[in-house]
Amino acid sequence: MTDVLERVKTYQQFINGAWVDSASGETIEVENPADGKVIAMVQASGAEDVDRAANAAEKAFETWGKTTPQERSQALLKLADAIEARADELGRLESKNAGKPVPAAIDEIPVMVDNLRFFAGAARLLEGKAANEYMAGHTSFIRREPVGVVASIAPWNYPLMMAGWKIGPALAAGNTVILKPSIRTPLTALVLAEIAAEILPPGVLNVITGTGATIGDPLVGHPKVGMVSVTGDTETGKHIARLAAEKVKRLHLELGGKAPVIVFDDADPAAVAEAIKLWGYWNAGQDCTAATRVIAGPKIYDNFVADLTSEVKSIKWGDPAEGDDIEMGSLIARAQADKVEGMVDRARGGAEITTGGHRPDRPGAYYEPTVIAGPDQKSEIVQDEVFGPVVTVQRFTDEDQAIAWANDVRFGLAASVWTADAGRGMRVAKAIQFGTVWINDHFMLVSEMPHGGFKESGYGKDQSMYAVEDYTVVKHVMLKI
Ligand code: NAD
Repeated sequence: MTDVLERVKTYQQFINGAWVDSASGETIEVENPADGKVIAMVQASGAEDVDRAANAAEKAFETWGKTTPQERSQALLKLADAIEARADELGRLESKNAGKPVPAAIDEIPVMVDNLRFFAGAARLLEGKAANEYMAGHTSFIRREPVGVVASIAPWNYPLMMAGWKIGPALAAGNTVILKPSIRTPLTALVLAEIAAEILPPGVLNVITGTGATIGDPLVGHPKVGMVSVTGDTETGKHIARLAAEKVKRLHLELGGKAPVIVFDDADPAAVAEAIKLWGYWNAGQDCTAATRVIAGPKIYDNFVADLTSEVKSIKWGDPAEGDDIEMGSLIARAQADKVEGMVDRARGGAEITTGGHRPDRPGAYYEPTVIAGPDQKSEIVQDEVFGPVVTVQRFTDEDQAIAWANDVRFGLAASVWTADAGRGMRVAKAIQFGTVWINDHFMLVSEMPHGGFKESGYGKDQSMYAVEDYTVVKHVMLKI
């Protein structure tokens, strides 16, 4: 072990424009989940580090909060350019830290860069809704003020991209940020800090690394943190919301999902199966919008299950280091593979596993791409988020049942409807309770359109002007004239 630790890089954390050790001097190992090897050490931040970061962010807000939209826009554009210039390096690092295929990890960087460029433009477009004399002799107008210090808590599934979704709108609106990446995947966020060090004034973006259990509560509860934005598990979101309620803090919650894919009999089963092979198993199914829960029409069901099974059997999975033709890498950790294995095993009795269903005997965190046909609507595998390479297929009897089953989960993030009948597509899109509905596609996101959930998938929007608005507070100013 000593030998390994000597060879891997130890990263410091980034507070107030400087690289510093944790106050305790302790560090945490970071693994490559594809082979279980330690690839880096990061600082084990504690409450004292949170306090340093909050003080730095509050101080920086005094000037950053007063910059013009043009200045913030230019900074975000520079940040986007500098990230783009290091896309290959960042993608490779992400692949090594998250176990995802190298081409897929590299492809995430332009998406994040586009998002930052969108928010650079959005910084200059924030507007109040009205200015008028609503009371005689008084002019009223609306200002949108930044909140102040934002704690941005990011997940491990798209580490850098999710960090970008958080810092883009927060900085555009004039806030300062304490970014806490997942302790499983902190490395690209630390490179982001290195890039930002050349562009943003000290304290505007701070990156601290620690476990949610250790620094989560001090961060959320810190009196200088005005808003908490978290992307993560619904249980994490509930915990944070309970804590934030004590101080009535502003919250932005992007939580779990269980996306239904409603396939009507007039859809092309082979084409839908090809799409679900991609969007159900992308990132090894560790995606909050993953096409994980197919609800198929009575006539198309058999052909669809056969087509999907054959598509999923063809997925080339393995260690991304084996080559760029690997379509699906490892899961994020062996603990995640344990979770997936448990859920599939509990589903076995009530449904048919048409492919996969095994945990390969090899180092790393793997689970075979799996299709489960015919589970009960009330079963755990249909109701709960697997966050792994597992897709279920159920047979519905009519449109009403398809809609009822789609809505009958506690989540409401994303959904898709597949049909040749445009009217039906629109009718069903209206009837289902999800923040994004695709018709005849799945998974497509654009910087201009909002992403965020209904129900236990959270509240607040990522991307789009709605996100910038979420990171501001509305103020009414009335002038006696
Ligand atoms: P997670 O909840 O385990 O962790 C998310 C972040 O919260 C991490 O940085 C973690 O350290 C932190 N955290 C954990 N406990 C905390 C606490 N008590 N206080 C403060 N912070 C704490 O989630 P994950 O496993 O990293 O990510 C997977 C989850 O994220 C899935 O449920 C997925 O659906 C969800 N997700 C949602 C979206 C979306 O847009 N809605 C996007 C991506 C992922």
